[in-house]
Amino acid sequence: MKAKGRGVKTFGLCLVLSLFPFAGEADGLSFKPSDARNALTAATELVRACTPRDAGTPSGRRAADFILLQLRRLGLPARLDPFVAQSRNEIRSFANVVVEFPARDPSAPWIVLMSHFDTKPGIAGYQGANDGASTSGLLVALAGVLRRSVRLQENLCLVWTDGEESREGYADNDGFQGSRHLVKQFRAKGRTVKAAICLDMLGDRDLNIVVPQNSTPSLRQLARQAADKAGFTSRLTFRDDIQVVDDHAAFFDAGFPALDLIDFDYGSKPGLNDYWHTPQDTLDKITSASLFISGRIVVELLNLLTTARPTLVVPRI
Ligand SMILES: [Zn+2]
Repeated sequence: MKAKGRGVKTFGLCLVLSLFPFAGEADGLSFKPSDARNALTAATELVRACTPRDAGTPSGRRAADFILLQLRRLGLPARLDPFVAQSRNEIRSFANVVVEFPARDPSAPWIVLMSHFDTKPGIAGYQGANDGASTSGLLVALAGVLRRSVRLQENLCLVWTDGEESREGYADNDGFQGSRHLVKQFRAKGRTVKAAICLDMLGDRDLNIVVPQNSTPSLRQLARQAADKAGFTSRLTFRDDIQVVDDHAAFFDAGFPALDLIDFDYGSKPGLNDYWHTPQDTLDKITSASLFISGRIVVELLNLLTTARPTLVVPRI
């Protein structure tokens, strides 16, 4: 992920969500403190068993296999989605981990939830406990929540993306391989996307979630409502002065509605960000309390999205 200052490129929009509710599931999804503990456990297991998790390396593939195992232990029909892609000046192998929750109507629109699991290469001792593992654990816990819920009106796709981190500097062929691959697949299948939501660095014990400018306005509005409903309004900040290039950007740039939820203030003091991409990004910096807040907001967002009318979205050519 990288942040950009004010004045960089702007994006067109192609969706307005209709918020008129229809008959949805009675009580909606819930996210309990035990789910947050499950999230922390899954993140901790991932870091302890699979560090580093650099994309395009055998250890990266082991991490994908490990997440697959975590999901299958929950009884979920998870699968690996291996692919090759350009990485700097060479072709490398990657693998996303995918679990889908089909709607009653297969032609229903899709909601995509993403977290990258790979680590930033080239940093000695780097664990990526918050950057990569925390939201990957959260996504495992959310998969468990969805498994115990009734079917939703929308198709849901949870993806642990590979190759989010750049090897050197972010460029067209360095970083975001997993989300770009995902967008290609969605376009090829002609899937309608209602929301593509990226979760990143949301386990920070000092949790301040940012919604950057380059997220679809209707989804930003929905995120605000979700935080209100979850009782964590103050944890969400809407920044119109920064754009964050994260896994949601592949969807956003393709004209799909997309949202980034990220805590990009990760350090020993506010504003320092000195834990980010350093060996200081360790498990003691993440808490189940923060994962609870993040999980509650995401679940309320899903509840709002699944009571909004399905919307047709035509991706840009
Ligand atoms: Zn990172």
